[in-house]
Amino acid sequence: MSVLVVGTIALDSIKTPFGEKREILGGSAVYASVAASFFCPTTLIGPVGSDFPSEHEDFLKARGIDISALHRLDGPTFRWGGYYEYDMNQAHTLETKLNVLARFSPDVPESLRGAPYVFLANIDPELQLKVIGQMQRPKLLIADTMNFWIDSKREVLHEVIRRVDFMMMNDGEIRQFMETPNIPLAARRLIKLGCKGVIVKKGEHGALVFTDSMHFSAPSYPQELLRDPTGAGDSFGGAFIGYLAKTDDLSEANIRKAVIIGSVMASFNVEDFSLDRLKRLKHKEIVERFEEIRNFSEFEALSVMHWG
Ligand code: AMP
Repeated sequence: MSVLVVGTIALDSIKTPFGEKREILGGSAVYASVAASFFCPTTLIGPVGSDFPSEHEDFLKARGIDISALHRLDGPTFRWGGYYEYDMNQAHTLETKLNVLARFSPDVPESLRGAPYVFLANIDPELQLKVIGQMQRPKLLIADTMNFWIDSKREVLHEVIRRVDFMMMNDGEIRQFMETPNIPLAARRLIKLGCKGVIVKKGEHGALVFTDSMHFSAPSYPQELLRDPTGAGDSFGGAFIGYLAKTDDLSEANIRKAVIIGSVMASFNVEDFSLDRLKRLKHKEIVERFEEIRNFSEFEALSVMHWG
């Protein structure tokens, strides 16, 4: 099974306590599609400007990602600038220059409208709705978002939530969106808006899944090599849906595995700037880290004991 990813393609300028890089490859759909491509055939749709370096397109193609439906627009590519302090869970935006993103209207080619697995990476929720309107009943439709859109397009986001299977947000965003500090309560309220489940990304503290019938808490990976957290959420999402598409199994047990796969890919992504770590990542390393997480989070049942 294949995955269709729609979202932003960016040139990011980022400063973390471990370095500073300007105009590097980024964007929600780039991180998500590269992560998904480790597991299944992946197509990427997003806007690039006339200044988008061809070496980035070559990298995406070399990963086997289908970029034939990229939207090439005149003008500069979308740019995002931000920084992180020692709490790397918190991105501080310095600038968001929409550039060609302001004129992007996603047009999914006929041949892709039947895609079974669709990931609407972080982008204007109005564009997410446009894509949903063009698709023919995907098996799994997931959308991600961020505070920028929660602040500016709250009502439209409600409509996206009504129409997707899973909604992804980070812990701060779901608290802000549902106006409660309590994450389980926020998740419950969000599901009432119409989606089947919620995935709450908690950065270095793992991830949570909520549906009406299940709750799963993925442990965090004790990552000591953290250089740039940009794209952690997107690589989590891309790997999550990529693994589900590869296995084509939406059982609860498999969703749990997919969340761990998502955490594994996010944990690799933060080890270097841009896509640099994913560029060198080998399948063997993914399997080893998955096993590592499985081993350190296993515990036995309580034996029968006398209390007091
Ligand atoms: P993440 O760290 O996973 O939340 O996502 C980081 C990526 O999101 C960066 O590479 C940015 O280019 C991209 N990004 C930043 N702001 C926005 C926005 N308002 N809409 C969509 N993507 C964005």
